[in-house]
Amino acid sequence: MDDHPDIAIIGGGIVGITSALELRRRGHRVVLLDRGQPGRETSYGNTGVLSDASIVIVNNPGLLKQLPKLVRNTGLKLRYSPAFVLKRLFWVLRFLSYCTRRHFEHAAAALRAIQVLSLGIHKALIAEAGVDHLLRHTGWLKVFRSQESFRAYDMERGVLEKTGVRHTVFSADQLAQIEPGLARVFVAGVLMEDTCSVSSPAALCDAYVALFVAAGGEVRQAAVTGLERTPDNKWRVILDQAPPIEANSVVLAAGPWSAEIAAWLGYKIPMAWERGYHVHLEPGEGPALTRAVHDIDRGYVMSPQLQGVRVTSGSELTDRDAPPNYAQINEVAAMARDVAGLGEAVENTPWMGRRPTLVDSLPMIGKAPRHDDLWFNFGHHHTGLSMSAGSARIIADLIDGKAPPIDATPFRPNRFRL
Ligand SMILES: Cc1cc2nc3c(=O)[nH]c(=O)nc-3n(C[C@H](O)[C@H](O)[C@H](O)COP(=O)(O)OP(=O)(O)OC[C@H]3O[C@@H](n4cnc5c(N)ncnc54)[C@H](O)[C@@H]3O)c2cc1C
Repeated sequence: MDDHPDIAIIGGGIVGITSALELRRRGHRVVLLDRGQPGRETSYGNTGVLSDASIVIVNNPGLLKQLPKLVRNTGLKLRYSPAFVLKRLFWVLRFLSYCTRRHFEHAAAALRAIQVLSLGIHKALIAEAGVDHLLRHTGWLKVFRSQESFRAYDMERGVLEKTGVRHTVFSADQLAQIEPGLARVFVAGVLMEDTCSVSSPAALCDAYVALFVAAGGEVRQAAVTGLERTPDNKWRVILDQAPPIEANSVVLAAGPWSAEIAAWLGYKIPMAWERGYHVHLEPGEGPALTRAVHDIDRGYVMSPQLQGVRVTSGSELTDRDAPPNYAQINEVAAMARDVAGLGEAVENTPWMGRRPTLVDSLPMIGKAPRHDDLWFNFGHHHTGLSMSAGSARIIADLIDGKAPPIDATPFRPNRFRL
């Protein structure tokens, strides 16, 4: 047990795990702290897409046009708690203020760079961890129910072309050939050719934790309850029911809980939570899905997983810890069942997770503005699995005083007044 590590990482989701692994491999003595088993919160229940192409942010210019429809609050892509929106009105207005063409293009370029970097690292780590059986190279398919919705996708296609995302458009007949398990309700599809996916994000987390431990890293199961500076300029990390740790540096990578922890030191992190749900459905009798499929018009994704076909819902904007509301996932699970001929639900209760979203829909990766040796790595919203390995490379380079392999300035914490 190392109570004086070089670096303590708070949060053992995929972002904390990959950061721990990268830093340990560079020779730092690293302790990864999680209040539970690593990889069992948001990083457990996602769709498993390792994307190089999820670069169109939710608060894009098109969102403003959809606002009149969103007021009804019955859509499947986004539901919200009116009470939360009122309580966090300033956050919501700030989020909407980023719906500009300029920010859209800035965010797309930044996300594309980090996702490409990340995907390459993930592939190498997956091979090294010996879990190639989890990885699929079959791309990520978006399907459209009408020509109108396909035309509305033009803005995104323009960005894909501009940023060099390899993609192919399929007609209804071609869709029937590449995914024969889908009902013929879709008029077109777009396949992101280079995107990969995994059949168990939790197993991926476990495999990376095993690499970290094999490299000499330590995982400690304990809840962090406080953070203090010591007189000799170290960080004292206070733990629930365990003695504190004194570390030279701290990386805060606690995903949806990061804003709360940063607030202990006076930071006001502009974070909200786009919650999401999943259920697993038994595969049906017909041809099995071979890749993650996104029903664009209904805002859900079907992804073949070890536990069954995982159906994940769109976003629910509400308090991080509000009681779950299963209406959205129940509706889309019924649609997925019809569209892919799927069977019964595997579990009795859907899973719920929280996408940690910052107002500009970019993660925060870099030095904490007002404290030395404190590093932020959180806010990875819809694509934290995809971006984690690249974020880890960036944070490790910044800690080591090296230039990151891509421009990390779009992610710097001091882009906000915190
Ligand atoms: C429905 C859904 C589908 C998604 N699909 C995809 C996808 O296909 N591809 C993709 O790239 N991304 C996807 N995402 C997003 C992705 O899952 C997240 O961005 C990512 O998991 C965030 O990882 P994290 O490590 O930051 O947070 P988490 O995984 O939530 O980890 C944070 C960790 O911090 C720990 N922690 C919190 N507080 C403390 C404390 N006080 N002390 C100690 N430990 C603490 C928690 O226990 C937790 O393990 C999806 C998300 C959802 C909800």
